[in-house]
Amino acid sequence: MRCSIEGCPGECEQRTVVHTVRHRGSIVVIEGVPAEVCSVCGHVLLTPETVRHLERLLEQREEPQRTAPLCRYA
Ligand SMILES: [Zn+2]
Repeated sequence: MRCSIEGCPGECEQRTVVHTVRHRGSIVVIEGVPAEVCSVCGHVLLTPETVRHLERLLEQREEPQRTAPLCRYA
């Protein structure tokens, strides 16, 4: 699949990414999310199905499996 960024010649390939979302005021990092990633510019595209799955996951979320330090670009 062609990259959706205008002027980018890259091809998107199926990969798993680390996806970060803000949910109810807290930041949640989800590993192993299937996505199309551009080999040139790194643009990440999630399919609507994946987005829906992530939303369901967040709704059902219990305790996170692991926690990570969160740094802020200052
Ligand atoms: Zn691209």
